[in-house]
Amino acid sequence: MDINERNTAAIVFYGILLHVATASEWSYQGEKGPSEWKNDYPKCGGEYQSPVNIETTKVLIDPSLHLFKMAGYDQKLSGGTLVNNGHSLQLNFPADKTFRLSGGGFGNSTYRALQLHFHWSAPGSYDGSEHTIDGRHSAVEMHIVHIKDPYTSTDQVKDMRDGLAVLSVMIDVGQTNLAVKKLLDATQNLTYADSTTTLADGPSLISLLPNSETFYRYMGSLTTPPCYETVLWTILEQPISISQAQLKRFQRLKSVHSCPEGGNCSLPGNSMGGNFRPVQPMDGRVASSFVDFSYNKIESHGWTYDGALTGTSRWSKDYPNCGKNSQSPINIDESIAAKQNDPEDLKFSGYDDALRGTVVNNGHAVQLNFDQSLNYVVTGGGTGSSYKAVQLHFHWGEALADGTINGGSEHTQNGKRYPAEMHIVHGKASHLNDLSTYRDTASDAYLVLGVFVDVYHDPEGKDNDAGANGLAQSLIDAISKVRYADDTAELNYGQSLSSFIPSEKSFYRYNGSLTTPPCSESVIWTVFKDSIEISVNQFMALERLFSFKNADVTERNSIKKLKDLVLVDTIINQDAPTSSSNATKVADGTSSILLEGTANHLLRNNYRPLQSLHSRPVTFYDLTDSTVTTDVPEQQGTPIVLIVLSVGLGILVFVLMAFVAKRYCCGGKKKGGTAEYTAGHQDGTDLI
Ligand SMILES: [Zn+2]
Ligand SMILES: [Zn+2]
Repeated sequence: MDINERNTAAIVFYGILLHVATASEWSYQGEKGPSEWKNDYPKCGGEYQSPVNIETTKVLIDPSLHLFKMAGYDQKLSGGTLVNNGHSLQLNFPADKTFRLSGGGFGNSTYRALQLHFHWSAPGSYDGSEHTIDGRHSAVEMHIVHIKDPYTSTDQVKDMRDGLAVLSVMIDVGQTNLAVKKLLDATQNLTYADSTTTLADGPSLISLLPNSETFYRYMGSLTTPPCYETVLWTILEQPISISQAQLKRFQRLKSVHSCPEGGNCSLPGNSMGGNFRPVQPMDGRVASSFVDFSYNKIESHGWTYDGALTGTSRWSKDYPNCGKNSQSPINIDESIAAKQNDPEDLKFSGYDDALRGTVVNNGHAVQLNFDQSLNYVVTGGGTGSSYKAVQLHFHWGEALADGTINGGSEHTQNGKRYPAEMHIVHGKASHLNDLSTYRDTASDAYLVLGVFVDVYHDPEGKDNDAGANGLAQSLIDAISKVRYADDTAELNYGQSLSSFIPSEKSFYRYNGSLTTPPCSESVIWTVFKDSIEISVNQFMALERLFSFKNADVTERNSIKKLKDLVLVDTIINQDAPTSSSNATKVADGTSSILLEGTANHLLRNNYRPLQSLHSRPVTFYDLTDSTVTTDVPEQQGTPIVLIVLSVGLGILVFVLMAFVAKRYCCGGKKKGGTAEYTAGHQDGTDLI
């Protein structure tokens, strides 16, 4: 087959690196094996041949190399043509989509991805990659072949040293790869050579890449006849993985057109496995490398909800309080709660005033710090004191492909976990200026109102605005503006705070802690029995928040940035979350990204596991038939805080006695447990 007689698409499909030429023309073994290729294809005997062994101790770090720019890599490969060409399994990319690669030391050149294909090991072997790193093979190697703009055929670029750019991904055997699964699932009818199929449901290109952009670069050739020396090779250092079963599916593909009768198709020569060329001498060439320092950069935020080193189970290492016996959250078991019908004059004053303040993404949650002129005050209700609200924030779970929401609230109610929980943090009025030290010794430094947040599901699964909470919309809008850690947005006119707490105010009461480090045991927990409700779309405003800083985004490599985009798009595009079609949409290639993003990229799942109650009492204040004041008339238009302060001071002695030995609490700071987020806030406003 003469490559020169082909052009554009045809060459794109068959001419690059791999030939659809009949297997007798060249092969990986026997008389037509690699050592003989140069007889028919002189270039195969050249000095710049590929693959090679990368000796990492001899690689030069090249300052002119840098991160890639990838445009369109988040597109799905659906619509491409999957081919068993007798030498490899190859996916020719859909013609109506463009995948552009630049940066990465390519100067001003841009390359377009045309196809990808694989080289893999023979049955029983794990040596299948073409390139080796320090002599080691991977089981599989994937080549993503790009051609330099504006060219369209190998023939046009065969005499250029940089006419093609191949991105090589090493693949080891380990976990199942859900993106590769989409390709393998389409090979049912590709067992024999020269068969093709259209890929109906492909993974995104980005989902096939590892996270790190650290790579090795050298100048080489096509690894198959005609071996043109026109390739800028990029070997990504970090491998991806496929499962043992997936490797076997590769090995099931055959290089022959059919199996002879008698069934000797299982003979080694008939399997396509082992379709790699032996490494070629470097002949004085030097490989260079780029080290992707942006990778891992955002993983270290101090304490986290996930992760082996910084997750919830490790908090007590740096914050001893977190390991004590009066911690929060807990499961609230109503059946063992002591009943109390007397609300003890529970009063909410100022709660009808419009919300004003600053919404902050603090890297662990989203929080509204109330304008200090506001006076949301809770008195009575069994506290014997007055508490002024300083901030509110949310904890929430993750939306799954089937439209349900997994995890979310910190407290559970009779074992039930809600999609989210809002905490309205109040500081003891008499200690507003020294809460961060007062909480170390007092069990009643804070009163936190816990509000379970439910998400309405349209029974038909079609309307994600159904059940929208109009009163919450202005806050949701502000939350939508703080996508990245440290982002802030002003909320100038929100609804009243009273619109965020249930109209029926029966509540559970126990003494516990901050649910984030330093876990000070200083909180009077007041968790409402009733929940409030928001729509799926309102919940999605929380789901879209990132845990890293916007500044980190520009430093992050293209692969991680694009994976984040795919991740977020996947969530946003669940426009009909309960329908099976959407479940399918997320249930494969991109779901591996979803899982990956959960740990490191999004704020969601920011709830602490349940803590043991030990012998702490829980009281259920059943106010069903009681009148609870949601505002205190005599305080309107007056400096409420003064009234509050005087009330608080007046009963301070009583409070200290009443709560002796029972109240332990929580302390709370976020990122890394450092003080960086405390600065500039009213004391205590950054507690979680
Ligand atoms: Zn290849
Ligand atoms: Zn909280």
